[in-house]
Amino acid sequence: MAIATTDPNTGEVVRTFTPLTDQEVEERISTAVEAFTALKGTDFAQRSGWMQTAAGLLEADVDNLSAIMTQEMGKTLTASAAEVRKCATALRYYAEHAEAFLADKPYNAEAVGARRAFVRYFPLGPVLAVMPWNFPMWQVIRFAAPGLMAGNVGLLKHASNVPQTALYLEELFLRAGFPRGSFQTLLIPARQVESVLRDPRVKAATLTGSEPAGQSVASIAGDEIKPVVLELGGSDPFIVMPSADLDRAVETAVRSRTQNNGQSCIGAKRFLVHEQVYDAFVDKFVAAMGALVVGDPTDPKTDVGPLVSEQGRKDLEALVDDAVDKGAKVLVGGERPDRPGWFYPPTVLTGVTDRMRLYTEEAFGPVAPVYRISSVDEAIALANVVHFGLGSNVWTEDEAEREAFIAGIDAGAVTVNGMTTSYPELPFGGTKRSGLGHELADEGIREFCNAKTVWVGA
Ligand code: NAP
Repeated sequence: MAIATTDPNTGEVVRTFTPLTDQEVEERISTAVEAFTALKGTDFAQRSGWMQTAAGLLEADVDNLSAIMTQEMGKTLTASAAEVRKCATALRYYAEHAEAFLADKPYNAEAVGARRAFVRYFPLGPVLAVMPWNFPMWQVIRFAAPGLMAGNVGLLKHASNVPQTALYLEELFLRAGFPRGSFQTLLIPARQVESVLRDPRVKAATLTGSEPAGQSVASIAGDEIKPVVLELGGSDPFIVMPSADLDRAVETAVRSRTQNNGQSCIGAKRFLVHEQVYDAFVDKFVAAMGALVVGDPTDPKTDVGPLVSEQGRKDLEALVDDAVDKGAKVLVGGERPDRPGWFYPPTVLTGVTDRMRLYTEEAFGPVAPVYRISSVDEAIALANVVHFGLGSNVWTEDEAEREAFIAGIDAGAVTVNGMTTSYPELPFGGTKRSGLGHELADEGIREFCNAKTVWVGA
């Protein structure tokens, strides 16, 4: 894929970039090693100060940065601004908490015949981050903030369609005061990831993206015996039981399915509704999805902007067409509008069965299959039918039902009467083929640390 900014609102190529040569990549890895030495000589207070500065810089530049993000991947300006502010919050969160998260962890010295026994956390060195376009700032910040605070340095291989956002991130940490090379952007194609990851000076990798990309990076990391964190796809269930507050459930279902123009890993992607409230839910859901304003993402009135790319729209259409060909019914949407840009309308389908790809595959756009279920057990079985296990959403006022869902759904998160969202304060990670390891909160910062066990005798 060419490294370029292509505006999804118009389909026009705005700016192209020349990929780094092998020699330039080599120089950047050397710079990263030097930066690691410099960063190791700093303490938490120093790094925290730079992190706070980075947060302030982001907030001061929210309009400019939002315009870049919207032009590169099509999310609404409102959504871009919200993402920038969330990134500033995460930078401050790690600025304030990293030292406590990485404090020495004492163990029972007496039990092992020692005077003192504890674990101390050390950074690993240069970490390669392979990141996706859908939350082009947030996905990177949730690696960069804990990573830099722990004392690691970052090498970012961002998605090829968000090069300006990628370069902005490199500048951000430099402007904030971090030593040169602490966070570098490598404008390289995906095929060059392997040689960077196999370089012995690169100590670990984190990837957020699709399953094939995750498989590739994890197998190289496995071959090199390097730690890897994977945040991959999802097809999260949204379960509505009879006791739910239906209006809130519908409003949240619409928001979850259409946020980021339907391209969020933790967006609700399958709607499992109890037969007692099925008809009422479907009526309200279809009306609300059909009422959303689809259009120019820079217009404040727009709810849903374009999909990221022509290919992204083709992939989504292929899922809907396959379902319709095999008997599913489209209740609203389902037709691409006749206009430039890669738009696709909010779409609701019923009658989706296990013969259709939509039953198990991830729909990365505003497409919502609704299923009728008649019990908790049936809901759990259908929730677990996919090989993903990222998030899940459950709407019920019944305590026993909640407990059954929390225990029964195979996912990295269960959200009760709300919408699955990532927070700096909570760990985030998937199970099954949605990923390995965790980001955010205390767990996220320890993923790329050597937890060194120390035993001190009398
Ligand atoms: P993608 O095609 O896998 O791309 C993600 C990143 O991986 C890009 O930087 C891409 O580079 C690179 N890449 C692609 N193939 C690679 C390979 N074989 N080896 C090394 N690097 C490779 O994914 P996407 O389409 O951009 O993102 C959508 C997917 O990400 C969805 O499945 C979504 O659910 C998932 N996602 C998950 C989370 C989470 O936290 N779990 C968050 C957001 C998104 P190029 O751009 O140069 O190809």
